Amino acid sequence: LLTLEDVYKKFQDGQTEVDILKGISFSIHTGDFVSIIGPSGSGKSTLLTICGGLQEPTTGKVVFKDIDLYNLSKEELTEFRQKHIGFVFQHMHLIPYLTALENIMLPLVPRKIAIQEQIERAKFMLEQVGLADKANRYPNQLSGGEQGRVAIARAIVTNPSLLLADEPTGNLDSKTSKEIMDLFAALNKKGQTILFITHQLEYASYGNRMFEMKDGAINEAVLK
Ligand code: ATP
Ligand code: MG
Repeated sequence: LLTLEDVYKKFQDGQTEVDILKGISFSIHTGDFVSIIGPSGSGKSTLLTICGGLQEPTTGKVVFKDIDLYNLSKEELTEFRQKHIGFVFQHMHLIPYLTALENIMLPLVPRKIAIQEQIERAKFMLEQVGLADKANRYPNQLSGGEQGRVAIARAIVTNPSLLLADEPTGNLDSKTSKEIMDLFAALNKKGQTILFITHQLEYASYGNRMFEMKDGAINEAVLK
């Protein structure tokens, strides 16, 4: 589904250039549930945005469904992203003045889908994440875990081929974090391919594969 070939990313740090990613290569297959674990500053978020078509690598290739992502025009890449990739950001990024239902409808707006169908789809997603009764709540009327579930519902309402999540359990207590991870596991069982970042080994082990990042390089850990 997704292949990275020798991806490098350099950032300017004052006068000097720093290599944040140093030759990352891996493949993710349809149905995979993959964690990326590694210390703060090791380049995990940078890597995830590159996988998601949000940031171009300095050198190297990102191939998604046989398409070289960063060879696309800006418009083509945006369209590709909206169609194939779902993103859950660490701080959820819910829109405060939209209800849970409206937040979930958001990715459907650029599509030419009748409003009633958008509402139906968003309601179905709310059921999928166990929040059918909270459709009309605003984000500040939801707990952190509920907000996380709304963010996940919004990321998958378009049926993306790949769900990317940057520390979806970041600011949550351990009970709520487990609920979010259980939700991911249930979605993966239904066929959703997932690549997620975590700081904690406990959550990394939910996946069927685990990548360890260190000093800009990545290693796949042998599980079980
Ligand atoms: P954390 O676990 O704290 O979220 P991370 O592994 O996600 O860390 P990144 O956010 O990918 O790390 O950042 C990796 C390094 O790249 C950091 O040293 C960061 O300061 C640097 N960096 C990230 N984005 C930029 C940028 N746009 N310009 C310059 N440096 C950047
Ligand atoms: Mg990060």
